[in-house]
Amino acid sequence: MAEGMRSGGIPAVGTSELFQILRDGVPRTRAELAAMTGLARSTVGVRLDTLTEIGLVGAAETAVSTGGRPPVQVALLPQARLIAAADIGASHARVAMTDLSGSPLAAADARLDIADGPERVLTWLVGAIDGMLADIDRTRADIAAVGIGLPGPVEFSTGRPANPPIMPGWDGFDVPAWLRAHIPAHVLVDNDVNIAALGEREHGWPDVDHLLFVKVATGIGSGIVSEGRLQRGAQGTAGDIGHVRVASAGDTPCRCGNTGCLEAVASAPAIARALRAAGHDVASSDDVIALVARGDIDAIGAVRQAGRMIGEVLATCVSLINPSVIAVGGSVTRAGEHLLAGVREVVYARSMPLATEHLIIAQSRAGAGAALAGAAALAIDYALSPAGVDEMVATLEDRRLVVR
Ligand SMILES: [Zn+2]
Repeated sequence: MAEGMRSGGIPAVGTSELFQILRDGVPRTRAELAAMTGLARSTVGVRLDTLTEIGLVGAAETAVSTGGRPPVQVALLPQARLIAAADIGASHARVAMTDLSGSPLAAADARLDIADGPERVLTWLVGAIDGMLADIDRTRADIAAVGIGLPGPVEFSTGRPANPPIMPGWDGFDVPAWLRAHIPAHVLVDNDVNIAALGEREHGWPDVDHLLFVKVATGIGSGIVSEGRLQRGAQGTAGDIGHVRVASAGDTPCRCGNTGCLEAVASAPAIARALRAAGHDVASSDDVIALVARGDIDAIGAVRQAGRMIGEVLATCVSLINPSVIAVGGSVTRAGEHLLAGVREVVYARSMPLATEHLIIAQSRAGAGAALAGAAALAIDYALSPAGVDEMVATLEDRRLVVR
């Protein structure tokens, strides 16, 4: 019989597998855990000792006593370890420290330029993390995992940016290895739209398993949640809808080198450009939103038209992945319902009735905090997974060897 297997070929329940039962935070007794796993109570005890030693599990508040000594219950201790989350944009970064349930404990933000390169940006990040740790009186060793979003394509399996257009110096940079030299924790890196999709689902639509999150800002991108899981595709570029050709874009040049891309006609800079061509004094998406807020017909029309062009691409997405919710976020959505009105107009007209019968097209619920919440969710999911718990156990065993 292979090691690690019980008779009958059922995988043995190790420490990290036992922890998966306790991940939901529900307090349980040793007897209950023994019954659920088929392990002897003494074996459950050994596994729980390890989980207690790494701090993930501890004695829970015992239920109201019905007389006699109540059985000891154990549960996940969310405050035992920390998660560092970062949403690094083109010109602005936010970081937060949360517990293992995602509750924020500290936060910081700063203006910075992603084009300064990885070492300067990540040096700032480590400094910000140290500052937050000092505020809550904890240390780097308490961090279980780090989740980071970057404004460009990332090869998720290695955490290396892949040909990011606005991030000089970052191409292929080993972000996890650089950070691990400072913070002894697992580091997960993904692009900002993917982590925003995770945050949007976690905080806006926790019961929705098929969600498409669309970000309309300087660029246009989407994150796909299907069967409750983020879908990154083979190279991590799934959902990159900004460079899909739209018929009404004609030969408008795009920053990717192609022409007729969605981003070239429906992003915030494209809307501003269209309004400038119509004689309006607009420089940024803020100016566009201010113009819409004043009820300017041209501005409202331009935003709605951008919505229609985005809807053209989203109608195809609806046919391909059949989401039940399309959540639209990003700076342009601050212009109110006009963008969504354009999206709905085209998606409902161009999709098959069955696909849109129950389809909700709505503003992002998680708002500007979606990406940071998603970065935390990504890191928590890893930290509490069997692989994450095994890593913590291995670190503990290394420390024991050093002590001996
Ligand atoms: Zn393009």
